[in-house]
Amino acid sequence: MELATNSKIFCSCSARYGAEPNESVCPACCGMPGMLPVTNKRVIELGMTAGMLTNCRINRVTTFDKKSYYYPDLPCSYQITQWYAPIAVDGGIEIETAGGGKTVGIKQIHLEEDAGKLVHDDWTGSTLIDFNRTSVPLIEIVSKPDLRSAEEVISYLERLRSLLKFAKVSDCRWEEGSMRCDVNLSIRPYGSTELGVRTEIKNMNSLSAIVRAIEYEEARHIDALECGTETLIQETRRWDDVKGQSFSMRTKETAADYRYFPDPNLVPVIIDDTWLGRIRASLPELPDEKARRYVSEYGLTEADCAILTSSRNFCDIFEEASRVSSAPKETAGWLIGDCMGYLRKKKLTADDLSLDPVKLGELVKMVNGGEVTRSAAKRILAAVIEENADPRQYSEAHDLAAQSDESAIGEAVSKVIRENDKMVRDYKSGKTKAMQGLFGCIMRELRGNGDPAVIQKLLQDSLDKIE
Ligand SMILES: [Zn+2]
Repeated sequence: MELATNSKIFCSCSARYGAEPNESVCPACCGMPGMLPVTNKRVIELGMTAGMLTNCRINRVTTFDKKSYYYPDLPCSYQITQWYAPIAVDGGIEIETAGGGKTVGIKQIHLEEDAGKLVHDDWTGSTLIDFNRTSVPLIEIVSKPDLRSAEEVISYLERLRSLLKFAKVSDCRWEEGSMRCDVNLSIRPYGSTELGVRTEIKNMNSLSAIVRAIEYEEARHIDALECGTETLIQETRRWDDVKGQSFSMRTKETAADYRYFPDPNLVPVIIDDTWLGRIRASLPELPDEKARRYVSEYGLTEADCAILTSSRNFCDIFEEASRVSSAPKETAGWLIGDCMGYLRKKKLTADDLSLDPVKLGELVKMVNGGEVTRSAAKRILAAVIEENADPRQYSEAHDLAAQSDESAIGEAVSKVIRENDKMVRDYKSGKTKAMQGLFGCIMRELRGNGDPAVIQKLLQDSLDKIE
C-alpha cells in the first residue's frame, strides 16, 4: 500500500499521484552515484500506526536493507526495504464472513520504496521510464496462511482497507494503484496440516479480479493434484483478467537470490516510549467505535451509522456539521439522503465529497428554524457542494427565504382552493390524501418557498370552514 505522505521515503520529492512523467524526481530517487537517502520520519510513524491498528508488536529498533535485483524501473539495481527488523511483527485482525468471525494473523509489516513505471509506447515501439513513483513509500502487510476462501480474503482486505483509510495511513485507492495485493495460494488434502505447493499472483488491483484469480488458481491446483494435468512448482504468476487465466512469470526466487544486506547509508531508527506513546495517543476512533457512539450519543439507527462510518471523510463532515447545527439526526439525514444522492449521480464515493461542514451545519439550522424550506435547502446544498457557496448569502441572492408571511400564504391558499374544486370535494368526502395535493399546489404557487407549517395551518383552517 502506498503511504499517504507528502514526500517520498528517502528524499524530499513529492509523492503525490498524477504529476507529469518524471516531474517528481531528484538525483537521490533516480539513483545518481553519491546521493544519500534520508529516512522520512512520517513514513516510520505511519508504519507504527499500521502496526498498532493491526495489533502488531512495534520493533523498537527498525532497520532498512537492500534487496538486489535488476530491472529497468529500479535505477539503483536494488530496492530499499526491511528484511531483518521490519517496523511491526506478529499481529492480527478480526474478520466477519457468513461463516462467522475469525482472526487473521499478520506475520509482519515492512516499509519499502516503490519502483518506477515502464510505459510501453506502441507508436515508436520503445519503452519509456517514469521515475515519479520511484521511492514513493509503501507498506507491505504480510498475513499468515490463515485465509481459507475467496470470501475470507475479500473480508480481510476490506477490513484492512477500512482501518488504514480511517487512520489516513493510505488512501487505499485500488484504481490508482495505491493499494495492491499479492495473492498466495496453496491447497492440501482435507485434514492435512502441511501446506501444499504455493503460487503467488503479483500486483492484483481489484477485488473482483482477486476473486476470479483465486477461483482459477484453486481449480488449477486441484486439477494438477487430482488429474495430473501439470506439476505444480513454487512460482510467481501474472493474472490476465481479460483472458481469465494466470500465466507463469518466473520461478519463485528465494531470499538468497535477493542478497538482502543492511543498507549502510541508513541509520537504524530507534523508537522510544515517548514516540510510541505519542503515536498511540493519535490513533483515531475507529469505525466500529464511532458507530456505537453515534447510536448511543445521537440516537442514530445502526443502518445510518453503517453508511456514515463507511468513510472517514463522511464522519468528519458529520461530526463538525452536527456540532454547528445541534441537530445530529437531521444532519445525518442530509448526508445520507441528499449528499449520497448527489455522489451517486456524479459517480463519486463518500471519500470524494468536498463539503464545508460548517456550511452544512448552518443549512440544517436554517431548515430547522423555518428560514428555508426543504426544497429550497436542496438547491442551496447543491450550490454549497459545487461552488462552496455560503448558504445564507445564496438564499438571499436567489430569493429562497421561506415565505412565512400569513397574508401572502393565505392568498395562495384561497387561490388554490378556488381553482381546485375537485380536490377540495375529495378531501371533504373523506379522501384525506387530497390534502397533500392541495399542499403541493400551494407550495408551487409560492415557488417552493412557503413555510410548510404556516401553509399546513392556513390550509387546514380554510378546509375546516368549507361545508
Ligand atoms: Zn527524489
